[in-house]
Amino acid sequence: MISYTYVRAYPRRADALTFLDIWSSPPLVMNGHCMFKIQEYISFRDLNTFKVGGSARFLADVASIKELAKAVSFAKERKLPIFVLGEGSNILVSDEGFFGFVVKMNIKGKRFNFVPNGARATVSPGENWDDFVEEAVQKNLYGIENLSGIPGSVGAAVAQNIGAYGTEVKETIESVTVFDTDSMEEKTLSLSDCQFGYRSSYFKSEAGKNLIVTSVTFALWKKGGVDIEYQDLKKFFREKNTPSLYTVRQAVLEIRKNKLPDLSQVGTAGSFFKNLVVTNKKYKTLRKKIPNLPGFSLESGEIKIPLAWIIDNLLHLKGVSKENVAVYDKQAIVLVNLHNASAKEIYNYAKKIQKQLKDVVGVSPEFEVCFVGEF
Ligand SMILES: Cc1cc2nc3c(=O)[nH]c(=O)nc-3n(C[C@H](O)[C@H](O)[C@H](O)COP(=O)(O)OP(=O)(O)OC[C@H]3O[C@@H](n4cnc5c(N)ncnc54)[C@H](O)[C@@H]3O)c2cc1C
Repeated sequence: MISYTYVRAYPRRADALTFLDIWSSPPLVMNGHCMFKIQEYISFRDLNTFKVGGSARFLADVASIKELAKAVSFAKERKLPIFVLGEGSNILVSDEGFFGFVVKMNIKGKRFNFVPNGARATVSPGENWDDFVEEAVQKNLYGIENLSGIPGSVGAAVAQNIGAYGTEVKETIESVTVFDTDSMEEKTLSLSDCQFGYRSSYFKSEAGKNLIVTSVTFALWKKGGVDIEYQDLKKFFREKNTPSLYTVRQAVLEIRKNKLPDLSQVGTAGSFFKNLVVTNKKYKTLRKKIPNLPGFSLESGEIKIPLAWIIDNLLHLKGVSKENVAVYDKQAIVLVNLHNASAKEIYNYAKKIQKQLKDVVGVSPEFEVCFVGEF
């Protein structure tokens, strides 16, 4: 069966592509019953957790590699930039929207292959990250329990190298399969090919921006021990017996609930900034100026400085709002949309904080949030 649908909403402005251009383009071929739709002028507001942003010029929800290839071809033929969207929990979309093609990753699937010491889990990018963690814990598989409760999809978890409570997702990744938008083929990358760093990966670099994560293989183990060395978890389990895998997940979920905004009530994208990572020498210099500045040694020998501490203790911005945006009162690295903030308001406040941080510590933090469209 061959069928395709073109869905048109209302145009917001005169665009280079006309309706005619699109109808004269080759039809998108579908398999089976699934109908592949390319939609126009779709509002981003319900597609991101900040609840802001204009429209996507084109958007397609892709549920298979074939659909992904069709969507990419459509964008390439029209020389449109592509933005790969997961669940929109780490993006800030411009009020003017995105004049390109948004590929909403909806490829689903999870497979656990058990081996004597654990299991290999192969997961599709459109699966919800925390559903995967929950299932792994239920199957008594160790490795990702400290990453419980992080919003978003599996594909983005890898691209972002998500981390929390002393764990990063890269620690359990065996390989990542990607769709290369240049060669239009899938290929599998090893862990080292992925070049994971602190909230970064090859997929986020200029060289890897043509790669879309299409499947991830995790190595999880059966008889692992839990890791509760991170301060908050240590405090939570003080004076208790060694917790089980399940209780660690519950503890992480509870700590997060008390510290982070409830996405059903408040618009946010989590940490707006990355923590500072500086050389030991730079850290020592900073400590001369700010004697109680906290810092944690990383494997690389560098020092990670918690930015929330600086925003709270040196800038005194915890809970402080500007226009319709606030620094979250329980976690100062998080910005929240108070009442219908615009993306511009959020961006301006973040830039202001970034500048103040540069003035106070001499280092400008990078943004963790990904920007979509022009700012
Ligand atoms: C309340 C809250 C708490 C959070 N806590 C944490 C935390 O503890 N630790 C942490 O690390 N993060 C945290 N985050 C950030 C966020 O949850 C993660 O970055 C998450 O991985 C984003 O997933 P997503 O599907 O929503 O990605 P999106 O926001 O849709 O996209 C994020 C980036 O990933 C890219 N991307 C998406 N899918 C793919 C794919 N298949 N292939 C290639 N690139 C892709 C996008 O292009 C974009 O650049 C938090 C966010 C919120 C709102």
